[in-house]
Amino acid sequence: MSENSIFLQVPSKFFYDWIESHYQDTIQSSLREITGNGINVKYTVLLTNEAQNVIESRRENHLVGLANDFEPKYAQTGMLERGTKINENYIFENFVEGSGNQFAKAASMAVANTPGKTTFNPLVIYGGTGLGKTHLLQAIGNSALAQGNAKKVVYVSSDTFTLDFIAAIQKNKTTDFARYYRGVDMLLLDDIQFFQNKEQTQEQFFHIFNDLYQHQKQIVLTTDRPPMELKGLQDRLLSRFQSSLTVDIQPPNLETRIAILSKKASDDNLDLPYEVIEYIAQNVKSNIRELEGLLIRLLAYSSLMQVDIDINLARRVLREAGTIEKRVVVSIEDIQKIVSAEYTINLNSLVGKSRTKEVAEARMMAMYLAREHTNLSLKTIGIYFGGRDHSTVVHACKCIEERYNTEKPFCTLINLIKEKINNLL
Ligand code: ADP
Ligand code: MG
Repeated sequence: MSENSIFLQVPSKFFYDWIESHYQDTIQSSLREITGNGINVKYTVLLTNEAQNVIESRRENHLVGLANDFEPKYAQTGMLERGTKINENYIFENFVEGSGNQFAKAASMAVANTPGKTTFNPLVIYGGTGLGKTHLLQAIGNSALAQGNAKKVVYVSSDTFTLDFIAAIQKNKTTDFARYYRGVDMLLLDDIQFFQNKEQTQEQFFHIFNDLYQHQKQIVLTTDRPPMELKGLQDRLLSRFQSSLTVDIQPPNLETRIAILSKKASDDNLDLPYEVIEYIAQNVKSNIRELEGLLIRLLAYSSLMQVDIDINLARRVLREAGTIEKRVVVSIEDIQKIVSAEYTINLNSLVGKSRTKEVAEARMMAMYLAREHTNLSLKTIGIYFGGRDHSTVVHACKCIEERYNTEKPFCTLINLIKEKINNLL
């Protein structure tokens, strides 16, 4: 412990994340009680092989101080933190690219490189929860700051913006409020769907928006639905958003999910068996936050119970988390039989070398269904199809999913076959 800092040594970044997210307040308030003043908590992560690596959790890359004459109510009471804090892990380098988020990432990087100077002003990022909107938004801020492309960057959630605005009204400080926001180089406003039906806040925002826009300051917004579908938003605000560039983030496909999990694991110096990664990625489909949550749960389990992470532990954790949907599990042989009957081809060609269009489609279909309706790993599935590589199975699943989502008749066909699988039980 030094004069104004305390160092905590933890075995891995996972512990640091866990302590930060669960005990930060407790630790802070205890320290305040004991020492009578604020103390920085810093973490030292003991890396197994490498030299020690210091993570300063409270590093001051907090962007802007508050304007002197404007005191946000919620920051003061400690109920809600003012949104000027940017998570230093939310950077482009940590954002795994996949087909669903490629364009959003590229647009975000363009904006960070030349804020206010691209045609993407404002840039609107939309996508479902847990798909990386906040991550991208803050990555823009972090990158622009690091490159020196912007000095005053403010990240704020629309909720906090609204609460602060209300507080400003109560204190007769709306002028200060507006001045504060008009003085920024870059405004990153998260989750603008919270603005719905908040007319006065929208009004205020509209003026700030116009002012920043006219001064070529970059504005980036996120929303969990397409701008056209934001109900309860004033028309003039809507038309502003609609004339901007909107980029969407789609749920990650299997490969991207595997890539994200592998990256998180290796960032944490974790040696996860590939089959565990694959198993989690197969079962958690729509949400990256959930993907991360499961990884953390798995780690917590294994460290508390002192067992290695393997496929059985992963199964158990996912089942307890309620992630695994109830699905029909059958044998891969049954699936192969049903599919070859449906396509009227024989079983040998299904697992053989033929590449005719029909056989190839049937094979991909059977691989996809095997992934959905057996507990076999992709590698094992490949083996059942004439010793093919696991990447072939991944590719097959992707093709089928794509057609499932875009071709009506194909979708009907899959449902029909699934029906037959269900009837096996
Ligand atoms: P949203 O704001 O869309 O609800 P977040 O940005 O909070 O989602 O993302 C949820 C979690 O998933 C965060 O921890 C984020 O770092 C992580 N995440 C999302 N997308 C990616 C990605 N492409 N690569 C790595 N991590 C990601
Ligand atoms: Mg978010």
